[in-house]
Amino acid sequence: MSDGTLRLLLGDQLTPAISSLRDCEPGKDTVLLAEVMAEATYVRHHKKKIAFLFSAMRHFADELRQAGHRVIYVTLEDTGNTGSLFGEVSRHIELLRAGRVVVTEPGEWRLRSDMQDWQARLGIPVEIREDDRFLCSHADFGAWAAGRKELRMEFFYRVMRRRYRLLMDAAGEPEGGRWNFDSDNRHPLGNDMAIPRHPAIACDETTREVLDLVGRVFAEHFGDLEPFDFAVTRRDAERLANWFLRYALPRFGDYQDAMRQGEPYLFHSLLSPYINCGLLDPLRLCRDAEAEWRAGRAPLNAVEGFIRQILGWREYIRGVYWLEMPRYAETNALDAHRPLPWFYWSGETTMNCIAQVVGETRRNAYAHHIQRLMVIGNFALLAGITPAEVEAWYLAVYVDAYDWVELPNTHGMALFADGGRLASKPYAASGKYIDRMSDYCDHCRYDVKQTLGGTACPLNALYWDFLARNEQRLGRNPRLAMPYRNLARMPADQRQAIAQKAAQTLATLDTAQPPESDQPTPPQPGQQTKGRKIKPRAAQQQPKFL
Ligand SMILES: Cc1cc2nc3c(=O)[nH]c(=O)nc-3n(C[C@H](O)[C@H](O)[C@H](O)COP(=O)(O)OP(=O)(O)OC[C@H]3O[C@@H](n4cnc5c(N)ncnc54)[C@H](O)[C@@H]3O)c2cc1C
Ligand code: SF4
Repeated sequence: MSDGTLRLLLGDQLTPAISSLRDCEPGKDTVLLAEVMAEATYVRHHKKKIAFLFSAMRHFADELRQAGHRVIYVTLEDTGNTGSLFGEVSRHIELLRAGRVVVTEPGEWRLRSDMQDWQARLGIPVEIREDDRFLCSHADFGAWAAGRKELRMEFFYRVMRRRYRLLMDAAGEPEGGRWNFDSDNRHPLGNDMAIPRHPAIACDETTREVLDLVGRVFAEHFGDLEPFDFAVTRRDAERLANWFLRYALPRFGDYQDAMRQGEPYLFHSLLSPYINCGLLDPLRLCRDAEAEWRAGRAPLNAVEGFIRQILGWREYIRGVYWLEMPRYAETNALDAHRPLPWFYWSGETTMNCIAQVVGETRRNAYAHHIQRLMVIGNFALLAGITPAEVEAWYLAVYVDAYDWVELPNTHGMALFADGGRLASKPYAASGKYIDRMSDYCDHCRYDVKQTLGGTACPLNALYWDFLARNEQRLGRNPRLAMPYRNLARMPADQRQAIAQKAAQTLATLDTAQPPESDQPTPPQPGQQTKGRKIKPRAAQQQPKFL
């Protein structure tokens, strides 16, 4: 056995300075990247997501070779590919006679706990290093959370602002005299507001090969593969970041919560896939955004809002995930057990807001935060859909989805399935919110102003019914005092009519079935998905799309 080290890199670890490469000896050690079937299919990821990661991995392997590393890259169809990460590590230890494995911890509990056994199974040392590309370590988050009855992002964010001295004045106070400008950031879009066109990156030969592979092998997965215009190199991702800072950041704050039919991107950055896979550095993005404000090119509400998403929300979400897993994923505080409606995959629903967002998700593997939270997530919350099914959907369909970030956002923020560990109240809304923040209702067959009757917006009755159904659990939440006061003032016959209307809507969800040709192939009982064993009754809608 040689004393060389095998350094395994995962698909979201495409950073030259990552901890697993830190003491790499190019003449002695080997870096391994592998496209494996198990990771591409444990949920049926969107075709664009698989293509993005495979192409970015292939380009990163070239980047490492150019920097002098010895790299082994295993493509999905290489002869001998065992189909799993453990299989590939094991095979290459034999081939290289490596004496040690070094890896940076993965972003999923499922894989992290699997790796704990590798040392025993491989019979050589396996070192799992912390992922210090994040701005708050597990230990620091644990110390911040210790002894707190409630975890709230806002207080965590202030600690992080101070620690990294972002948007702080010389006296150590927040610039502009406030920590948070969120209340300035809720404008609907005016009809005449021009939206900048996000640049598209052209495919090179490597990406074309990957698109061909994904088109053949993953044809049954959800989503359109083309047009494909993601950046797959660090240089192109940085070009997109610079474009955002210059052309979209100035308006990012004002219209952060707005939605418009046919405009999936608005002033959002579209940078999450690159930050999450390691092509962009989160701290540098925050510093670059601050520089835009200091140079007078972007207003404070926009820059503070952007920094809060990355330094605050992104780190907080990750902190909660590692603090609370694996128990976190098991909670179901609102006792939600309805199966995921088929229209989450097909987009075939008369509710225009949902049809639009599912359609954009299918085409782009992207929806912005408010679409994820207040359209798709809100419906799942109001309808009481089983958290695990909703989470598997989010993990599959978005290009930036990894368990550490998808799970708390869905389980905690969108579904309140953690009973309020992450958010202080459920983000439940009637059609009124969607009407205020978008033009979806203008194009819908339902009347958003009506709660009862055949043409009434279904979300209105579902909203009141959600509050009524959960009164025992949520009625004393001070942040819901106003809606519960309004509910209490409602005459009994109106409450009953609303309950009936909601029950009718929910009954149509229960009977809606996928077309015969698209019958899902649910995972088998006992099979692992998302790190949890599937119970026999949980027929997860992981359909085939041909
Ligand atoms: C139900 C639900 C599921 C989500 N799943 C994911 C997911 O799988 N992966 C993911 O990266 N984000 C997820 N988010 C958070 C957020 O919606 C996306 O980060 C954002 O839409 C990405 O688009 P963008 O880059 O244009 O973001 P922008 O609006 O431009 O925001 C800038 C950056 O801030 C960060 N950010 C903003 N909000 C959050 C947040 N709540 N959590 C973590 N980072 C945040 C992202 O890095 C993002 O790129 C989810 C949100 C919800 C409500
Ligand atoms: S009327 Fe209701 S269902 Fe239709 S788009 Fe508006 S909120 Fe959605």
